[in-house]
Amino acid sequence: MTQRTLLQFFHWYTPNGGRLWKEVAEKAEALASMGITDVWLPPAYKGAAGSSSVGYDTYDLFDLGEFNQKGSVATKYGDRTSFENACNALQINGVRAIHDVVFNHKMGADEKERVKVRRVNADDRTQIEDDTFEALAHTRFTFPGRQDKHSKFVWDKQCFSGVDVVEQPDETGVFKLVNEYGEGQWNEQVDDELGNFDYLMGADVEFRNNAVYEELKYWGRWLNEQVAVGGFRLDAAKHIPAWFFRDWVGHMRDSISPDLFVVAEYWHPDMAALGSYLDLVDKQLMLFDVALHHSFHDASKQGANFDISRIFDGSLVASMPDHAVTLVDNHDTQPLQSLEATVDPWFKPLAYALILLREQGVPCVFYPDLFGGSYRDTGDDGNEHDIDMPVIECLSKLVEARNQFAHGPQTDYLDHPSCIAFVRHGTVDLPGCVTVMSNGNAGEKSVDLGAEAAGVSFRDYLGHRDDEVVVGDDGKASFPVHGGGISVWVRADAM
Ligand code: CA
Repeated sequence: MTQRTLLQFFHWYTPNGGRLWKEVAEKAEALASMGITDVWLPPAYKGAAGSSSVGYDTYDLFDLGEFNQKGSVATKYGDRTSFENACNALQINGVRAIHDVVFNHKMGADEKERVKVRRVNADDRTQIEDDTFEALAHTRFTFPGRQDKHSKFVWDKQCFSGVDVVEQPDETGVFKLVNEYGEGQWNEQVDDELGNFDYLMGADVEFRNNAVYEELKYWGRWLNEQVAVGGFRLDAAKHIPAWFFRDWVGHMRDSISPDLFVVAEYWHPDMAALGSYLDLVDKQLMLFDVALHHSFHDASKQGANFDISRIFDGSLVASMPDHAVTLVDNHDTQPLQSLEATVDPWFKPLAYALILLREQGVPCVFYPDLFGGSYRDTGDDGNEHDIDMPVIECLSKLVEARNQFAHGPQTDYLDHPSCIAFVRHGTVDLPGCVTVMSNGNAGEKSVDLGAEAAGVSFRDYLGHRDDEVVVGDDGKASFPVHGGGISVWVRADAM
């Protein structure tokens, strides 16, 4: 059975100009032969910032680059036809398209409405003032450029739970909309940061309005009629009531396929929070392993001072491996982005081996690590920075190694603070590998491969070492690694 390997096919600074969908189509065959099984695509629908929107400012879920709205027909990634072509190319090559779903909020309303609101303490959202006042809010979405095609649904003040700006009186802050839903309170079953983390940005979607709920179910079914849907990546799950995704994902699996791959962005390093969330969604979802990403970040910054034998301590893949999507970096953690905790390039080969070659977790490769990325933006310090994210030279070989050699039972040698190894013993049909890495000095690891391996010679698949290791009569061998480096030892006759 092919192991699942995700690729996040974009980053925050993917260039504008409508090229990405074409690039997906061009690369689909090569990705499949490398061993990528699932491609996570950026949000495909029109955002409030039009053709420069990364896609997390949802304006119109039904505009896949088809209508002249927000200043252009195409999105940042291309027009609807090229999106369809991209999804087709993936499907033809047996690669699943994972679609990014941003339901928490909408932005770029077409009209303002007279609404009733109550002021909220931005630092403790459970503190909602008793006093209700009237103001104008950006809560009416009629999509005049689409003219009811695909859906006639109009979003208005009954469809949202809160906003961050009102007019007449002009104020900014956090405001609870007072409408027919929730008796003036936020949605429950959301993260408890700031007391209640329902509100994130824009016009916050009110999931307790059944018409909204039905429209979002309809949208999922509709998307599946437009393009191939292999799964979903659910944005901002901390801010959306858990019961909604429990029901919505169940409905999508009933309507589209029971095999849909669904991963939620519940960006939290605490296993208790993730465990509670998984219980609330009936364990139907995968979650990103934020804690492991943070360990990779720390390890890359601390060098030899980081105890690499503890790299999996506190991670999701250690405690709930069946629900862990493991990653090294993403569009929010890359340099100059909101959750910036980037992993330095020297450590990325080690980090990728730790997610790609082990039994546990579904690994997610990040586009710039495979193809590179350069950009310029303003940092927190107010200065402009030129960022170059280099191609991680051995990453494509590590992805290939996952398919060719990451097979069979696993034995860990996570027993030294700066040099660790793990063995995949292979199966009857498929070879295994011995992965050795050091975040300090050059080292070596004595590994027991069993008497049946006696006399077998091993070479480093990554080519970082050019020596040959021959297993002794006792089934043991010592596998070397360069300082701050990694080697993936495989049977010479399997290379
Ligand atoms: Ca919300």
